Amino acid sequence: MAPLRRPVLAANWKMNLGPTAASAFLESYLSHYAARDDRTVILFPSAIAFSSARHAAEARPDIQFGVQNVHSAEKGAFTGETSASMAQDAGARFVLIGHSERRHVFGETDALTAEKMSRVASQGLAPVLCVGEKFEERENGETNEVIVRQLRAAFEGLLENDASVLGTVVIAYEPVWAIGTGRTAHPEDASAAHAAIRAELSASAGSIGDSIPILYGGSVTALNASTLLAAPGVDGLLVGGASLDPESWAAICNA
Ligand code: PEP
Repeated sequence: MAPLRRPVLAANWKMNLGPTAASAFLESYLSHYAARDDRTVILFPSAIAFSSARHAAEARPDIQFGVQNVHSAEKGAFTGETSASMAQDAGARFVLIGHSERRHVFGETDALTAEKMSRVASQGLAPVLCVGEKFEERENGETNEVIVRQLRAAFEGLLENDASVLGTVVIAYEPVWAIGTGRTAHPEDASAAHAAIRAELSASAGSIGDSIPILYGGSVTALNASTLLAAPGVDGLLVGGASLDPESWAAICNA
């Protein structure tokens, strides 16, 4: 029987909601979302709003926090960057790695993604690895090839670490053409991609691979969240735009 994975609902705020707005967001969101023990909620505020957001959720240990990015180096002369140890010190438990905006806007390669996976895992943080194909790649029938390549490259960075870190990984399938475009993947297409990811995880990491949650991301809204969550193989959602409104994000978390 397939392992039962507790749904994960993750909010990527990107470069939105500064410290004051993040605090106001949480006040409203927490009044619309009561703690539930059948799901995990993770917020990814901007680095500068991180402490403010975390402070605003102090009374709600059910809400977990992560950062949107870290540098691959331990520390040093990297103006403007955040290290994994700083993120951990601030209270982060998760780190987004390989988000399509990091790959396709900031030019991050598979090799850099692998370095970040390794850094984050050795710091004891949980990587949330994003994979997904561009529109042309889907049109050319290359979806599975792209996501398997991205997974293999990223996991190379983890194999140097203790195998137990594999148990902390979360995967987000985020087709690039669906992110921020209003074009959600059909649930059957999401399920097909999730099945390809699951097969690769099981082949490379055995039973640990079977327990890794695979989230769907790409134009999720309060209206389509339940349908996507019900799609076979979808263990949760990673949400950008619709996570910026406290009521819509609460509706998604209650889906
Ligand atoms: C994202 O950036 O991870 C994302 C899924 O964005 P959106 O929900 O806005 O498509």
